[in-house]
Amino acid sequence: MQKPRIAIIGAGPGGLILARILHLHGVNATVFERETSYATRPQGGSLDMHQESGQYAIECANLTAEFHRIARYEDQESRIYDMHGNLLLIDDDVTGKNRPEVDRGQLRQMLLESLPTGILRWGHDLRSIEPNGNGTFELIFHGKASETFDLVVGADGAWSRVRPLVSQAQPVYSGVAFVECGIDDVDARHPELARMAGRGLTFFVGQSKALIAHRDANAHLGIYAALRALENWIEQGGLDLSSPHTTRASLALHFHGWPDKLLEMIYRSGDRITPRTIHALPIGHRWPNRPGVTLLGDAAHLMSPFGGNGANLAMQDGAELALALTHAQDWRSAVQAYEEAMFTRAEPCAAQAWEAIDQVFSDDGLTHILQSMREHAREGATS
Ligand SMILES: Cc1cc2nc3c(=O)[nH]c(=O)nc-3n(C[C@H](O)[C@H](O)[C@H](O)COP(=O)(O)OP(=O)(O)OC[C@H]3O[C@@H](n4cnc5c(N)ncnc54)[C@H](O)[C@@H]3O)c2cc1C
Repeated sequence: MQKPRIAIIGAGPGGLILARILHLHGVNATVFERETSYATRPQGGSLDMHQESGQYAIECANLTAEFHRIARYEDQESRIYDMHGNLLLIDDDVTGKNRPEVDRGQLRQMLLESLPTGILRWGHDLRSIEPNGNGTFELIFHGKASETFDLVVGADGAWSRVRPLVSQAQPVYSGVAFVECGIDDVDARHPELARMAGRGLTFFVGQSKALIAHRDANAHLGIYAALRALENWIEQGGLDLSSPHTTRASLALHFHGWPDKLLEMIYRSGDRITPRTIHALPIGHRWPNRPGVTLLGDAAHLMSPFGGNGANLAMQDGAELALALTHAQDWRSAVQAYEEAMFTRAEPCAAQAWEAIDQVFSDDGLTHILQSMREHAREGATS
């Protein structure tokens, strides 16, 4: 088939895996990333890679051996406590489980190293896209020269600049905010917290709030303090951000009534404290096909992190789109077929993620998280 010139906007897991698989099949797309280098920002904690999506994409990218070097099968435990610190559920038998954890930074590094130099252009912040009238699109960047492509893939996350070309949908606030913090070298510095959190994902739930701890690589304990809040609660002074010390203290106040042994996770955390509001695109988000433009990952189906599907789906999207483009006779029909399958795949995950966040941050959150964790443990054991 006639090969389109392909631009991928965004070097997240979805965009990078797309570029890698295209490259394996002899198609060199160009990836434009607004960050100026790999080191611009920490990538955050761990992701569990699902067999049918994230791991499948890694296999298509011929990176399974590299993945096994960074995958942490030992960190698949789960625990649930109530807000008083009573342990209600523990699943610490990881035998046969196949949803290994991987550090986001290490995953990104693995994907970056798999691409030849020249494919990824750092420091390219897409400002807008202009249709040229002949079926091609001009990409306009902040402070860089414009470039023209036949196919533009928006892999640029929640607030995609590509999405408006195909859809008017905007992410909607879930009503829940996460404050991300963490403790370095937790085993040596705070062994009692390390023991309580175990090796995997741990929830402390009550009063429509949660402290969520997850074991990352290098003995880092990632922590999310999550609660219902107004979308602009930070602007309204919901946290005193004047120093890390005051931020920790004002965050702990939101968990008034929780015992000190749990609040220690906030008090002992490091100085990098990042508040995030959790948004989602409408469940079942789709658009009429527009030749020359498509989306993948969060740009197409942003959902709450409950269910752990976001990065997994982004990678599967990248893999499916790459395979469609390399196998089809007509690339425009290939993109259309990819979109239809992607809409169908993402919708139930988005519905489940929306329902889960709503239920966990309700008066009955503890019952819901217990039920969902039991199902998750069963799935992990069988997948
Ligand atoms: C708190 C939290 C926990 C999560 N936990 C999990 C989990 O356990 N498992 C899981 O599967 N998912 C999880 N997710 C979801 C996951 O992070 C996302 O679904 C995933 O990163 C989406 O990948 P992506 O490639 O679509 O987009 P992104 O990872 O968002 O990457 C987009 C890239 O595009 C770049 N970009 C953006 N705008 C522009 C522009 N204008 N020009 C150029 N480049 C641009 C960005 O800099 C970024 O590098 C979590 C999300 C959150 C918020």
